[in-house]
Amino acid sequence: MRKVFLPLTAFCLSAFMLFSSTEMKAENPFMAEYNTPYNIPPFEKIKTTDYMPAFEEGIRRHNQEIEAIINNRAVPDFENTVVALDNAGQLLENVVYVFSSLSESLSTKEMQELSAKIYPMLAAHSDEMLMNERLFNRFKQVYDNREKFNLTQPQLRLLEKYYKNFTRSGALLSPEKKEELKNINSQLSSLYLQFGNNIVNATTAWRLVVDNKADLAGLPESSIAVAAEEAKAAGLDGKWLFTLQAPSRLPLLTYADNRELRRKMYEGYINLANLADANDNKPLIPQILKLRKQKAELFGFDNYAAFQLDAVMAKTVKDAEDLLMTVWKPAVKRANEEIADMQKYVDAHGGNFKIAAWDYYYYAEKVKKEKFNFDENDVRAYFPIESVRKGIFTMAERLYGITFKEIKDAPLYHPDVKVYDVLDKDGKHLAVFMTDYYARTGKRQGAWMSVFQEANGTKNVRPIVYNVGNFTKPTEGKPSLLTLDEVETMFHEFGHGLHGMLTRTGYKGNAGTNVDRDFVEFPSQIHEHWMLEPELLKVYARHYETGEVIPDELVEKLIASSQFNQGFVNTELAGAALLDLAWHQLDNLDNLDVAAFEKSVAERLGMPEEIAFRYRSTYFNHIFSSDGYSAGYYTYLWAQVLDCDGFEVFKKNGVFDPATAARLKHVLESGNDEDPMKLYEGFAGHRPDAGALLRDKGL
Ligand SMILES: [Zn+2]
Repeated sequence: MRKVFLPLTAFCLSAFMLFSSTEMKAENPFMAEYNTPYNIPPFEKIKTTDYMPAFEEGIRRHNQEIEAIINNRAVPDFENTVVALDNAGQLLENVVYVFSSLSESLSTKEMQELSAKIYPMLAAHSDEMLMNERLFNRFKQVYDNREKFNLTQPQLRLLEKYYKNFTRSGALLSPEKKEELKNINSQLSSLYLQFGNNIVNATTAWRLVVDNKADLAGLPESSIAVAAEEAKAAGLDGKWLFTLQAPSRLPLLTYADNRELRRKMYEGYINLANLADANDNKPLIPQILKLRKQKAELFGFDNYAAFQLDAVMAKTVKDAEDLLMTVWKPAVKRANEEIADMQKYVDAHGGNFKIAAWDYYYYAEKVKKEKFNFDENDVRAYFPIESVRKGIFTMAERLYGITFKEIKDAPLYHPDVKVYDVLDKDGKHLAVFMTDYYARTGKRQGAWMSVFQEANGTKNVRPIVYNVGNFTKPTEGKPSLLTLDEVETMFHEFGHGLHGMLTRTGYKGNAGTNVDRDFVEFPSQIHEHWMLEPELLKVYARHYETGEVIPDELVEKLIASSQFNQGFVNTELAGAALLDLAWHQLDNLDNLDVAAFEKSVAERLGMPEEIAFRYRSTYFNHIFSSDGYSAGYYTYLWAQVLDCDGFEVFKKNGVFDPATAARLKHVLESGNDEDPMKLYEGFAGHRPDAGALLRDKGL
């Protein structure tokens, strides 16, 4: 799982809409001084009823600040215009960061109802600011005269970013077109919300109850224990309950000998939010696509993919598609070999059937065991969650000299959350880092990083960064033992976290992960490479009962098998990215049949029928529940070229080589202060080579 939800930066939020603030008094925790360590939000004091009044007051104050910028009599310059807007809207930002985080990780009916009100208001608010002619004119004056101001490179990039954000948000459109765009954005924001809620609700609604323990043959005892506990919690004592959440779904697909059970689970998953019931996302997809197409056309683009690709590292849809096809062809070839290997296994063991999609995890594991002589499930004993946490912290300490100290008395929004004071080399406070790792009901699937507070160089404010996962929970008497995928996800999200924590930019709008969206996965993905480095494994991979360090022989097997199944992994990943781009280049959106379109894309690409897209459209949160990764799922592979190429530099110089690490640290500190390709070349010493990706995956 690779996923990050980028925070709404200050300039996504904005003006207009005056609401009464009568209810807003000092007892609202957002309005009072927090008086908490490092200004962590006072979660324990926040009630659901506090959000709306604080949100309304935040908008009102933001409006006042914007009016003050517009009415400033001084000639517009970088400070009184760009920096002033960059720093405006603090209360609103505080509320939105907390609200958007908790509505993802602690979703309740009340929060969903509130989201349905707040997000459209926020979208309208943002439109009002970005289409505010008087405000834009000030920015335009600064932008048009930028050469006279002697701006530094970071200042220039911040200015350009705002200018581009204004123009791509409609500042140059005619009044009629502006109205049209506002209307589109407001409809989209409601649809996004509905799309995401449907997935959460459909996930919660689905369950697989097993009555007979014999049907669970093959499953590890730990998964059976979790299923028994889930059943007990649901009032089904003595039975076993499985859900679509990854820690329940994946062990069943990987280990259950019962083929029928695997089929039920698999079909449950690929039909998530796809059934003709209240949580069906099929009707929403054509609506979203039509509105996006209209939006792209307002800006003179043929389609939404072209509009989205205009503002990032990859400049055209073709750039992105070319890269995807470079991976796609060898990946499918490899996947077909993998399927043939699995079929051989089935035939040799007396199975009289053709491998189906619900067999993939199960037989991949069997073949892997045969080829490399180890069971992934045995390896989990060396990855108790607290050891892996030690692994990521040790990696950061050795690379960047930073250390992590738990803050015991920090406010928490859930007992599973842990909070750390992150200290720089000289012992000075660098950031707050929070983790919320376990799966639970009401938490959105996947894993992500975001912030509760963005770093702000103009005010000496350091960031509050967090990682959310959906990892295996501990059971009675047994700690959470992570799968290799989960370990990788923890390293991945922590890489985003480092991008947020280490930031040293002068301005909030350039800080942390506020970079081009096809660069944002580079810091996360490059840190995944350390998880299997023997030097680090020796530090963190320890048996949960004996404390024994992972044996050399097992490390060798892990490394040898790390390229196993890469056909499957890259086919489902590149397939999803190609599907995303196909959706967003579609001309005719009338009478759209979602499943038929998916099928036509799979056929055109020659996708093996044993593999599904990594996300089918009805639960493709990345592309349909926000603008975030829409026509942008390719960025994961785009960034893989950088991270594989970049890690080869470390392999050559030493994986903890101080000089190489210092150059990577500079990339992480720089945020949007510099062009991403220049930053990359400064680190690696050359332009990235796509061959590195194929070498790394063994394709
Ligand atoms: Zn990511």
